Amino acid sequence: MSFARCCCSLLALIATGCGNADDAQRLRPAARGLDAAGHMHPGPHDRCPVCAMPTADSLEVAAIELTDGATHYFCGTSCMLRAWLEPKAHLAAGERKVVRARAIDYFTGEHVDAAEVWWVAGADVTGAMGRMVVPLLGDAALTKFRERHGAPLVFRLRDLDAGLLQRATSSAPTGDEQR
Ligand SMILES: [Zn+2]
Repeated sequence: MSFARCCCSLLALIATGCGNADDAQRLRPAARGLDAAGHMHPGPHDRCPVCAMPTADSLEVAAIELTDGATHYFCGTSCMLRAWLEPKAHLAAGERKVVRARAIDYFTGEHVDAAEVWWVAGADVTGAMGRMVVPLLGDAALTKFRERHGAPLVFRLRDLDAGLLQRATSSAPTGDEQR
């Protein structure tokens, strides 16, 4: 119960309300965070803090680690990128900061640093939340992916802003500037 109260306090700080059990579960840090090698270990009770979907069985699971060591797993890359951009809103991060984010390299399945990959959006690859925003480690992987699926929108994590996220997560082809 004290945990729920704690969450409510954090939520109150960002003025999103209080007393919602779903919020408490969503915002609960993962039972097991990243290990020394940066591998993700989402458990059966770890929910995506953005959309509340389970994360353990996701093939595109991603993670964000905060300064107090708390780790959140995401159902997919789109939700992770959203939380990366707005940790206070989506993680009730408060004064805590994002330390790092992890994702699964599309081709190798390796758990990689989200800041080191190419992010590709708008391709014909679907994931947990519709069109998948795909992490690709290395220039060769980007070339290979582009040949197979196209790569209408390519960016680095450091370039992410609200407009880019909107285009990257739109279900419409990203070449369509109307969306
Ligand atoms: Zn999600």
